[in-house]
Amino acid sequence: MIFLDNAGTTKMFEECLKTYGYYACEKFYNPSAISRESAFVHGELEKVKKLILKKLGAYKGTIIFTGGATESNNLAIKGSVRNGDYTYIFTNGEHPSVYNVAKSLMNDGRKVELIKLDANGQADLKDLEEKLSPKVRLISCMLVSNETGAMNDIKKISALRDKLAPNALLHVDAVQGFMKIPFNVTELGIDLLSFSAHKFHGPKGVGGLYVKNLSSIKNIVEGGGQEYGIRSGTENVPGIMAMATAIEKIDIKKNFTRVKELCEKLNNILSKEEGIIIHNYNGSPYIESVTFKGVKGETMLHALEEKGVIVGLGSACSAKKAGNRVLKEIGFADEEIISSCRISFNAYMTGEEIETAGRIIVETFQEMKKRVS
Ligand code: PMP
Repeated sequence: MIFLDNAGTTKMFEECLKTYGYYACEKFYNPSAISRESAFVHGELEKVKKLILKKLGAYKGTIIFTGGATESNNLAIKGSVRNGDYTYIFTNGEHPSVYNVAKSLMNDGRKVELIKLDANGQADLKDLEEKLSPKVRLISCMLVSNETGAMNDIKKISALRDKLAPNALLHVDAVQGFMKIPFNVTELGIDLLSFSAHKFHGPKGVGGLYVKNLSSIKNIVEGGGQEYGIRSGTENVPGIMAMATAIEKIDIKKNFTRVKELCEKLNNILSKEEGIIIHNYNGSPYIESVTFKGVKGETMLHALEEKGVIVGLGSACSAKKAGNRVLKEIGFADEEIISSCRISFNAYMTGEEIETAGRIIVETFQEMKKRVS
């Protein structure tokens, strides 16, 4: 099977399984207990926090381990809500784990502003500028779109925040960027950042939230007070340690160059076929949206799987729902949305796999076109 839905999830590295086994069956101790073995495990978690902070280029703050980015996003947003006359800003491109939290704040009567996306899939900075004020408590904007691969200009957003909304926290959902795109939270002025291990060959159900200043957020679940009282519950030690193994293995710059080559290789093949439109926004090379004119994306997806190629239809969390909010926002016509698939890469695929996938995608499109005409 050639897997081209790596924005949905990735295959875990074998090495992670070894690490997982060691911390599940040998060093299985509770990091919060007071035995020497527990202290050792606690120390291992502290080392992982340091490793992640270094990867993020953070000189301040800490990491709170979570059960993945859906939880990290909920914690970042709900944890920063305060009573009072505050505004919360989100973009229309956000993943449901941010967007639906924004909607729930709205339903609770809080003031929420949604920022438009431009035709390149990026947050419209003019729109943002107009909505910024000292009353803004939080701006939440993703680094890389899970639908299109478009990248937001976090540096500019951060500068606008400093100028017009100095009291606002800047939260970045970096799920599709962390361990894939080089960036630095200090340079970008980020206060809160979400990530998830299964998007970079780590285990599912593990992730974290970078928090620059612990006093900026409150806990959203009550419990034993782990993770500075902000995320109670025994830490998923084997999962966290396995995530660290994935982080240690990945060379971000090398992988980025490799994925760029793979993406260009596939696009060279696909772009020769009339009716295949590649929406590449000069953002992340890891993700792109492809329209198969006249053929339903879902039909392509199933036909391709029969031939050994798996592509995506967009966020797995929204793939089963009609339409696509993000593509619509960018200006895709309804027929285009229905005819689009999401193709997403990983750095460990071979050039031959990409060539085979390209050939199969073109052949399948030709067959499907004949069927519908
Ligand atoms: N944010 C983005 C941008 C994502 O792509 C995803 C995964 N589809 C999530 C959040 C949710 O991450 P998780 O699966 O770890 O809950």
